[in-house]
Amino acid sequence: MPELRDALPALYRVLLGPPLDAEVPAETKATCARCAMLEEHCERPVRPVDGVPRFFRPDTKCCTFHPRLPNYLVGAILADDRPEAAEGRRRIEARVASRVGVTPEWLHPPRTFHLLYDASHRAFGRSRALRCPYYAEESGGCSIWAHRDAVCSTWFCQHASGADGRRMWMAVKELLSLVEVQLARRALLEVFPAALDEPPGRRAPSPVGPEELDGAPPPEAEHRAVWGPWAGREAELYRRCHAVVSGIGARELEAILGLDGTIARRQLARAVEAARSTALPPVLKLDPGATVQWLPDGSVALGGYSEHEAVALPGEAHALLVRFTGDATVAAVRARLRAELHADLDDAVLLELYRQRVLVEPGSPAR
Ligand code: SF4
Ligand code: SF4
Repeated sequence: MPELRDALPALYRVLLGPPLDAEVPAETKATCARCAMLEEHCERPVRPVDGVPRFFRPDTKCCTFHPRLPNYLVGAILADDRPEAAEGRRRIEARVASRVGVTPEWLHPPRTFHLLYDASHRAFGRSRALRCPYYAEESGGCSIWAHRDAVCSTWFCQHASGADGRRMWMAVKELLSLVEVQLARRALLEVFPAALDEPPGRRAPSPVGPEELDGAPPPEAEHRAVWGPWAGREAELYRRCHAVVSGIGARELEAILGLDGTIARRQLARAVEAARSTALPPVLKLDPGATVQWLPDGSVALGGYSEHEAVALPGEAHALLVRFTGDATVAAVRARLRAELHADLDDAVLLELYRQRVLVEPGSPAR
């Protein structure tokens, strides 16, 4: 089994200790090179939404997102002189030159992206208008993969441990997001401390005007007010921030993260434990909110925790699953199935159905 931190950018692999060193199930369902969410590659059923399986577009896959990159990751991309990193570097240079969303702390997405993203419906994975500017259509991959952000490092469309796997990656994202905020600030404290003088959130967000809607950069005076002596040398500041962060060790990072870091690690440790567990709860019931889709070959696809995956079983299995009503232990229900129907569901199938939250513990919150 890989370690949790193997999935993260190299910078974090040396900085983050336990529980990021825990071995976790490999996310083999998210087969990005042959994307599991494309209709032509889909080997498992995708949970239908409103009766229709919602596949992704081949020219976007799940990259219908625009990350917010902390200054030191922007610097890492700009400093990466490997030939395979050249395309990502070129795209980041263009984003920095555009001055749109370009601040000393972050390279933000344009605010117009949030307007579109927040107002869209079922567009994730299905809209070119939302496609990430770092997505390389020719290769179907990410041009800044080695230095991607907390969201992109922890997103998988399907999870080996189902709902518990998703929860684990969400906990990693929480921790990494905290790391991003604090390391970006730590770097600025050394490189451009005046940028930290204004408390976050003091300036009320202004409405998006016509120039911004059309992709224009902020007025020169506004840009200079934000960047001060670094105006015109934005890329250099980002590189300096990366150099500062590269010199930070695991122990210093722990001190920077403080109590919030301790709590985030603790939550992650618990999530890892759940994702690694192969134990079944003693009592289970078929979730009334689970989707049931009968397939042309007579099999049945059952969807639970996610709209991106489902479990396919022979059609006869459905008649066995409805006997799980939560009023008896799993062992007792299976004994009844064997006695009355001469049939059973094996441990691995039950575990997968539980991980997918098709079977749930009685009293679980309704979806
Ligand atoms: S994580 Fe994204 S690219 Fe990878 S298989 Fe899933 S949808 Fe496709
Ligand atoms: S940064 Fe990379 S992984 Fe993230 S959305 Fe963009 S192309 Fe996809």
